[in-house]
Amino acid sequence: MKVLKFGGTSVGSASHINNVISILEEKSKKDKVICVVSAIGGVTDQLQQSGLLAQQGDPAYLEVARAIEEKHLQLLTELINENAAEIKAALKEQFQHLKNLLNGIYLIRELSPKTTDKLLSFGEQLSSFIATETLNARDSNAVLKNAQELIVTDDSFTKAQVLLRQTHSNIAAYFKNAPQQITILPGFIARSFNGEATTLGRGGSDYTAALIAAALNAKELEIWTDVSGMFTANPKLVKQAYPIKNINYQEAMELSHFGAKVLYPASIQPVLELKIPILIKNTLRPDESGTRISTPDVKEDRNATGISNIDHITLLTLQGSGMVGIPGFSKKLFGRLAQDRINIILITQASSEHSICIAIDQKDVQKAENGINETFAYEIERNQLDSVLIEENLAIIALVGSRMKHLQGMSGKMFGALGKNNINIRAIAQGASEMNISAVIDQKDVKKALNTLHERFFEGDHKQVNLFIAGVGNVGEKLLVQIKQQRKYLKEHLKLNLRVIGVSNSKKMYFKSDGMDLKTWKEELKNGEIARLDGFRKKAIDLNLRNSVFVDVTASAAVSKEYIYYLKESIAVVACNKIACSAALEDYQQLKSYALKYNAPFLFETNVGAGLPIIDTLQNLMASGDKIVSIQAVLSGSLNFIFNNFTDQTKFHDVVQQAQEQGYTEPDPRIDLSGVDVARKILILARESGLAMNLEDVKNKTFLTDNNNASDTVADFYSTLIEDEPHFQSLYASAKAKNEQLKYVATLTENGASVGLQEIPIGHPFYNLKGSDNIVMFFTARYPEQPLLVKGAGAGADVTASGLFADIIRIGNN
Ligand code: ADP
Ligand code: ASP
Ligand code: MG
Repeated sequence: MKVLKFGGTSVGSASHINNVISILEEKSKKDKVICVVSAIGGVTDQLQQSGLLAQQGDPAYLEVARAIEEKHLQLLTELINENAAEIKAALKEQFQHLKNLLNGIYLIRELSPKTTDKLLSFGEQLSSFIATETLNARDSNAVLKNAQELIVTDDSFTKAQVLLRQTHSNIAAYFKNAPQQITILPGFIARSFNGEATTLGRGGSDYTAALIAAALNAKELEIWTDVSGMFTANPKLVKQAYPIKNINYQEAMELSHFGAKVLYPASIQPVLELKIPILIKNTLRPDESGTRISTPDVKEDRNATGISNIDHITLLTLQGSGMVGIPGFSKKLFGRLAQDRINIILITQASSEHSICIAIDQKDVQKAENGINETFAYEIERNQLDSVLIEENLAIIALVGSRMKHLQGMSGKMFGALGKNNINIRAIAQGASEMNISAVIDQKDVKKALNTLHERFFEGDHKQVNLFIAGVGNVGEKLLVQIKQQRKYLKEHLKLNLRVIGVSNSKKMYFKSDGMDLKTWKEELKNGEIARLDGFRKKAIDLNLRNSVFVDVTASAAVSKEYIYYLKESIAVVACNKIACSAALEDYQQLKSYALKYNAPFLFETNVGAGLPIIDTLQNLMASGDKIVSIQAVLSGSLNFIFNNFTDQTKFHDVVQQAQEQGYTEPDPRIDLSGVDVARKILILARESGLAMNLEDVKNKTFLTDNNNASDTVADFYSTLIEDEPHFQSLYASAKAKNEQLKYVATLTENGASVGLQEIPIGHPFYNLKGSDNIVMFFTARYPEQPLLVKGAGAGADVTASGLFADIIRIGNN
């Protein structure tokens, strides 16, 4: 004897019903088969809706009823094309009953729980009838048995309690002599001891099937649905979720109680006692193994089993001095809620007993608030208690697993991961069984929280990083090329899944919430929305993805002003833009403190020396307790290029132009030649060394002439370079006479920071610096005589992009 249950999603269309028929035909070759069916997908909701409309006096209820009728007749036509007239007539008769009932509700404007059950029971009656007729039209000899004749309940309409003894004996008696190979039964519906139609609660067809399996001591109970088993999290919300192969009853019960809708929680109880395994299978993919729920001794090597969520929760908090140490207080509270038939989903109480907090379904809030305030009116009036505090739009997420109690640090890991992603936790509960750790969070954070926890506990330490890149010019584009090339490597070797979610240039922006195709992003960006900095930020915040990073590849002051807003949302910031770190000291300090406060890294390695690990090295020295004594550095790739190429055989103007053409200078070369760019860099190194300094504090002895400095435009500036060629030649000649090299040097000592052109003698580490290379010498307490030296290409789009990339990876590995 096999008991199978097919959910509404499995009987939603003719092709799905055909799958069901094939599965039944196959199974019934070997065994007698009992098949419980739900209403056609969506029909229970439609019935409910038509009833509510009729009750409100809205004639639209008839349209909904007509839609239900059409859906069923259409199915019948598709499934049974011949000799269907009689079957159609029988169906039509049922629809007439349905319409009569709805008309009655419309006339008296009343929809009681009792009438609701009568109304909803049409769904399963209709689906089971169609399934039986379809099988019989194919010579399968199926018998339709009305479950209302077997399952007896009390009269708690809409969620009736089953009278087990009588139900068991009815089921056993009926099937004892039932000769047919296939029996079809409607799920969800039953009858009270008074003979009224009742239902077992939404999703209750699973329970019908479990009752039958238990009464007949079946070998197995199969629940067929639209997903391939019970997943590590709801697969509709967590893309990476996967089916749990084996799970014990307690874990499955805990997951389904906490929102894993795939199995109705009450269904486990009847089969648990008899140790009948439950198999959850996918009607559309019958070959996939699905999930097997069985006895607790399944040994699986996993720390947690699944995560689930209950949406639309309200928290009620009752607090006040009147509660402390007074016995019977909770009894009074829970007694009242029980009396009002309000289900409590979660309870927390601090040991101070100053407050008690409970989570309930949002729909019960009004009733609960009134009831509690009434019950404690006396205490509230005497200020021993505050009126009950209500917080809405919340949800519960729960981490479930039976091995969790043997493991330390599970809740630390759970809350650490949530905190890092700026998910605020309003209440926490952990049962003494330690099978479940639950947290109440904002409804809007549910998807992010599920994905964050899934990544933390179920993806073998794989981590997704979501990038929002502003500025996709020269360097930004190179960064995207590098990400595209390295994605596979990062996944395999560093377990990092880098996704680019948003890109923007100064004109357009484009987003793809599950990661863009790095081959076609340029085209998509062209057709994107008009770019706005606040719009870009809003999108990044609204998408609310875990491990989000904002990457600034611009040189814009306006973009640098955005960082603070990203950090506040715990979105990390990576910048090659130097403006923020060289702006006013308070601004820089604020960014640094926000990064700490909101647990969001702020990285800017490329501010100094492009991809060279200069800031990282400095931060590591500081973090390990070293002290910076002085820094000497050549930090301008462009000035280095210029003075390496400038001789008495060239013209200063031409060399500067060449540097600009090769992309070594800023778009305005005056920023490089005036020393401002280098001054910003040494300022950043000074600040990272722990000094509170501003740009004005950096001594800048210019090598330009007053004439150069007075130029208004870049073109003007170039003309003054021609006019003042003799000045530059004299700088060159002075150095050459001593056999020395001109280098633009930045220095930080105990006397402060300075930048300027220097003549460097042979033998000095700066003397042989080639091309656009940078060099930094750190003299520290641990490296007092022989400095720690970092040297290499310090300018260019490729190395800058790779520096940004390294910062992004640092965040990923964090
Ligand atoms: P049926 O109509 O077959 O009873 P349900 O809609 O009641 O189907 O249950 C199946 C749905 O449960 C899935 O489509 C999925 O969206 C949802 N679900 C929620 N949590 C889980 C989970 N952990 N594993 C599988 N499905 C889940
Ligand atoms: N048809 C009912 C519902 O939608 C019962 C079920 O599907 O299990 O809730
Ligand atoms: Mg269901």
